Amino acid sequence: MKCSIGDNFSQGSLIPFGNIELSPCSGILNYGQGLFEGLKAYRKEDGRILLFRPEQNALRMKAGAERLCMPSPSIEQFVDAVKQAVLANERWVPPFGKGSMYVRPLLMGSGASLGLGPAPEYTFLVYVSPVGSYHKGQRSLNLVVEEKQHRASPGGTGGIKTVANYSPVLDALTRAKAQGFSEVLFLDATTGKYIDEGSACNIFSVKGNSISTPPTHGTILPGITRKSIIEIARKLGYQVEERPVALDELLDADEVFCTGTAVVVTSIGSVTHQGRRVEYKTQADTVCQKLRETLTGIQMGGLEDTMGWMVEVN
Ligand code: PMP
Repeated sequence: MKCSIGDNFSQGSLIPFGNIELSPCSGILNYGQGLFEGLKAYRKEDGRILLFRPEQNALRMKAGAERLCMPSPSIEQFVDAVKQAVLANERWVPPFGKGSMYVRPLLMGSGASLGLGPAPEYTFLVYVSPVGSYHKGQRSLNLVVEEKQHRASPGGTGGIKTVANYSPVLDALTRAKAQGFSEVLFLDATTGKYIDEGSACNIFSVKGNSISTPPTHGTILPGITRKSIIEIARKLGYQVEERPVALDELLDADEVFCTGTAVVVTSIGSVTHQGRRVEYKTQADTVCQKLRETLTGIQMGGLEDTMGWMVEVN
């Protein structure tokens, strides 16, 4: 497997996957000055390989880089590096319908600086790996509300995809998994009454024909799947609201589902809060299923890509 790497955004090169050298004083190791992205490449029935909205990942990385005082590759440089990494590993892209290739772009402060400050040099790299379904193909997930810890607070970095957002969720996620749950549901850090998101997915609540999801004002990652699902749901005639969703409202929903590059669109079977388990509709004829069918249809090629979301690699 090869990955594309460059410390000058316009002059990357393909190198075999392996360890990279970093100064012990690098910005990423000492001050968490790093961002990553996650997207997928799919093989169509006719052999072509397509990416799902890669420019959206480039834009999210750009926004994150501004917040972390880093320069970032242009949209064209980002998408080009992603294409190069996927093409160089074309034979590892699973056959049509058998999974996808996960693509992980990473931007980091690689230069050395002992004192706290933006790193003097940066590295942007892209590596890839074939993947099957996340959560081992579970049809629905069981969530537990995290009572003690928060994922993000106002004014922090919850709205960008910095590496530093993921270590604070490890404890809650590990405790949840040890109790048999698949994911954690984080609440807002200010009042503890509203839902934020999962450790790696956005959350939607469904009541009748109406779908609600929290707005992404700073503490929630603006998921690209979230944004796409909102567009699809509106086109399908659902009423979609981006507004604060109280935990009480979620516990009273007909259906709950989560979105993300890894989980795609997956039903939530239950949410457990303070020992009380609330179950939701997950079987046939769910809103989640309709949205998932449309999104995966566009991604895998069964449905026409009327939104122009798919980008050809080869
Ligand atoms: N929230 C968090 C915290 C995430 O890590 C992810 C995965 N990137 C998401 C939401 C979903 O974002 P996307 O749909 O862009 O994968």
